[in-house]
Amino acid sequence: MAQLEGKTALVTGAARGIGQATALRLAAAGADVALCDLKAEWLAETAAGVRAAGRRAESYAVDVSDAAGVKSAVEAVAADFGRIDILVNNAGITRDGLLLRMSEEDWDAVLDVNLKGTYLFTRAVARLMVKQRGGAIVNIASIIGLIGNAGQCNYAASKAGVIALTKSVAKELAGRGVRANAVAPGFIRTSMTDKLSEETQQRMLEAIPLKRFGSPEDVADVVVFLAGDAAAYVTGQVVNVCGGMVTCA
Ligand code: NAP
Repeated sequence: MAQLEGKTALVTGAARGIGQATALRLAAAGADVALCDLKAEWLAETAAGVRAAGRRAESYAVDVSDAAGVKSAVEAVAADFGRIDILVNNAGITRDGLLLRMSEEDWDAVLDVNLKGTYLFTRAVARLMVKQRGGAIVNIASIIGLIGNAGQCNYAASKAGVIALTKSVAKELAGRGVRANAVAPGFIRTSMTDKLSEETQQRMLEAIPLKRFGSPEDVADVVVFLAGDAAAYVTGQVVNVCGGMVTCA
């Protein structure tokens, strides 16, 4: 039997990048997948990939930072699939800038999507998981949330918040059979990192002991592990997927 056969996963930001790769890897491992992103039509490619793996896919348009939208999306997923066993909080944005020039708007936008969005989805789905007496939550953080980065104080704060949220949720829900872990990617090739200058990319490459950028699948494989029973005794952890850039959690 496939590792995640009979399970339903919900992935946010599933239209591209790490979210798309995660949805496809979860499907390959046997899960049906509820796909969330800002626009449902952006999810067509991911949905086709999940179905090609022989699993069910449904698409939901939702802004993760909108409390009412998150509530109705989770209600719709629960009505369509009957349960949610795995939640992957992946949707995230950057609005980089140095602290002295960081606008309140850019601060709020990043905190709202990355941290508040993770809180809203976790709260809504945890209600179901507690009733089911089981579930696995995997939050996509970043090594920047562990080590900080000049020009990314908003992003670093949001991802450090995601890590602290994950550890607290893990402690709060462990007694109800719900696990929560975070994955902290390093430099992964997606549209988020494609916009960095050649010079910055070269500098980052030099700092990666494995001497290559990560792929979305490198991250997705770790998410699948944390989501499944192979990680039954793992909760409240941060797993760095960064080619060795950071060696502590
Ligand atoms: P990406 O290619 O930009 O994909 C992110 C997806 O999330 C996009 O489809 C995006 O839609 C969607 N999204 C953005 N805001 C949303 C919102 N408010 N509600 C719902 N969906 C929303 O990014 P990625 O590189 O795959 O990143 C995925 C996650 O990994 C993020 O949390 C990111 O911080 C984290 N991460 C990435 C890296 C990296 O090197 N790439 C490293 C560390 C951590 P749009 O098309 O509108 O943007």
